[in-house]
Amino acid sequence: MENVQTGKIIDIQRYTVHDGPGIRTEVFLKGCPLRCLWCHSPDSQAAEDEIAWFEIKCIGVDSCGKCLEVCPTGALTKGRRFYSRFEKKEIQVIELNRDACNNCGRCAGVCWPKALYLTGRDASLSEIMRIIDRDRLYYRKSKGGVTVSGGEPMVQYKFVKALLQQCKARGLHVCLDTCGYAEWEHYKEVLDYVDLVLYDLKHMDTVQSQRLTGVPNELILENARKMAEEGVALQIRIPIIPGCNDSEENIRATGAFCAGLGPSVSLVQILPYHRLGSAKYERLGKEYQLAELKPPDQKQMKKCRGILESYGLKVVTG
Ligand code: SF4
Ligand code: SF4
Repeated sequence: MENVQTGKIIDIQRYTVHDGPGIRTEVFLKGCPLRCLWCHSPDSQAAEDEIAWFEIKCIGVDSCGKCLEVCPTGALTKGRRFYSRFEKKEIQVIELNRDACNNCGRCAGVCWPKALYLTGRDASLSEIMRIIDRDRLYYRKSKGGVTVSGGEPMVQYKFVKALLQQCKARGLHVCLDTCGYAEWEHYKEVLDYVDLVLYDLKHMDTVQSQRLTGVPNELILENARKMAEEGVALQIRIPIIPGCNDSEENIRATGAFCAGLGPSVSLVQILPYHRLGSAKYERLGKEYQLAELKPPDQKQMKKCRGILESYGLKVVTG
């Protein structure tokens, strides 16, 4: 039988205030079927653990070198020498050959400065619930709760269901942060335990959706319609990515679609593109394709907001 008592997570953050009402504990699950060009958490995309290399934290092979001793595949060798401002001396760091690496994580286990680290870890339901339980007083006072995010949490929907059942058994408010790209049968398994769905809409044109996110949008739009029909409370979130999805045509199409979902949509949130996650690409040996893209200015955000409001929607920025 499949183990739903353990999930693969990226992180658990306490006291978050941006993903749902009040003060929340947010569980970030690993794995996502989308590959959005602007993704600020590329470490959450792969369902499996990946090794990340954060060169600036390495203290050098002369004073450490432990990772070289434990790597079973020869993926690590001595690499470049340079003057380290942190170590205040010249050091030689390691070089990681990703083609030879099997992401076993042995190096991460001995690298105490966390220059090498795994991007995911297994977490048991009981461990997560212990962390959630610590802040129940804050949830009550702030009308907050728990948000399950990612990655795309529906990749691990059986684990999510088990987690949300425990949250609901405690009377906690639950948000599900989803990109909408999952089977409807899987959503049906978890929606009984969700108070508010934070639903991402990225592009209304399926060809553009495929180009920008790696998947077409039919399933995403269909799931949003089905949730609205079933009276699921929805907060729609639209990242505003200049030159990608911020054309008047697309924002109008998005506004018309959201308005068509009816009273289930309580709020539309527009989120300006930012580059905060771009350094993570380098640590994973991946290319960040939007390196030159600038965040939208206030004028552009105001314009998008105005268009969406013209469809009778309640809209907030950020
Ligand atoms: S994850 Fe494993 S194979 Fe890859 S560099 Fe580290 S020890 Fe070597
Ligand atoms: S174990 Fe970490 S700090 Fe030590 S040499 Fe390897 S990468 Fe650098």
